Amino acid sequence: MSSGQIDERPGSAGALGALGGPGGHVGAPRQMDLFDTHAHLHVPDFADDVDAVLARARGAGVRGILTIGTDVETSRAAIAIASREPDVWAAVGIHPHDAAAADAATLAEIERLIASPRVVAVGEIGLDYFRDLSPRDAHTRCFEALLDVARRAGKPVLVHCRDAHADVLATLAAARVGEIGGIMHCFSGDAGIARRCLDLGLTISIAGPVTYPNARALPDVVRLVPADRLVVETDAPYLPPQPYRGKRNEPAYVAITATRVADLRGERLEDLAPVMAANARRLFRLG
Ligand SMILES: [Zn+2]
Ligand SMILES: [Zn+2]
Repeated sequence: MSSGQIDERPGSAGALGALGGPGGHVGAPRQMDLFDTHAHLHVPDFADDVDAVLARARGAGVRGILTIGTDVETSRAAIAIASREPDVWAAVGIHPHDAAAADAATLAEIERLIASPRVVAVGEIGLDYFRDLSPRDAHTRCFEALLDVARRAGKPVLVHCRDAHADVLATLAAARVGEIGGIMHCFSGDAGIARRCLDLGLTISIAGPVTYPNARALPDVVRLVPADRLVVETDAPYLPPQPYRGKRNEPAYVAITATRVADLRGERLEDLAPVMAANARRLFRLG
């Protein structure tokens, strides 16, 4: 399929319509059930209008949002939002960019925060060799320590991986991540890496880049992942889907990514969305 066709696909128009965009109907189809498995609602980008952002998400059919900490302070902020909003849950962790600064006291505090009833996962954690902001051994030590913490807490992990697939997969295999449960967030590998993640027992999360005209490997990945191992996310405020590139991303736009994923699989959004939302609820043990 040529990339130029993306925005003309009927599904894309439907997603924008669900957001009440130009020419669309305000409000989501009654049956819509979307779960944004990865957002950062605590960042300054949302400080002034988080209530409106959440209202737009609900209007687009987003019934659950996981907001993700990246260090101790933002993990606390994630719990604060999740404690206030019934359809927002929190994950606490140390992003690889902050791994160098994570000492024993930091890890102990993360482990303490995990006990909050609103915390349903440990993340984001992982390795990032693209920015390489932390020394690699510090990266790996922090990643391994938090995998241990997740195992002890009985909560799944949210894995960040950028240009580090070999080391991430080796670390996850050694930690027997299949027993812990986890999501490869904002999946950026090819079909082969996706198969290895599935073999490890991971769920794969697709983010906005699947809507970009230059998405090469992601369409194949989206088609090969079994429906019961697939979820979607925004990573808001980062990585907005194609219609909003250059702007702030927000959880309502997960409808656009989910629409593209359903189109690529030849499925109806209203059939696939509840399956993906159920996967998230099962993984996060939301009953
Ligand atoms: Zn990430
Ligand atoms: Zn993130």
